[in-house]
Amino acid sequence: MPPTGLPPYDETNIFARILRGEIPSRRAYEDEFAVAFHDINPQAPVHVLVIPRGAYVSIADFSASASEAEIVGFWRAVGHVAKELGLEAQGYRALTNMGPQGGQEVPHFHVHLFGGRPLGRMIG
Ligand code: 5GP
Repeated sequence: MPPTGLPPYDETNIFARILRGEIPSRRAYEDEFAVAFHDINPQAPVHVLVIPRGAYVSIADFSASASEAEIVGFWRAVGHVAKELGLEAQGYRALTNMGPQGGQEVPHFHVHLFGGRPLGRMIG
């Protein structure tokens, strides 16, 4: 269950459907803990979403509720995907949106990986 104040996990969200294979995605990577696929509306030459296999609404839910194995496995996968996509040499951005003010649209925790061009400095 997500922490108090967050909506319960919605099994019909688009990323849950992608995980179940009900909706196609261009997969970049998958393992026991994580699945990565290309964003349908890329904001950079490389724009990949990395999601945990577990049902977590947001980073808050994931941080509070996932097991240590899931957390370690997920973040290792994020680093692995960035490396496999060739982003390490020039650098990249990893970002997660959380809740309404964070601009989160899809209520399944995900990390955006952006790369392939200079991204500029971004805070807030
Ligand atoms: P959020 O605003 O929740 O952090 O980002 C959600 C992201 O999911 C957006 O960048 C959006 O383009 C992407 N997205 C939404 N629906 C789909 C879909 O059906 N397939 C893929 N590959 N990406 C999607």
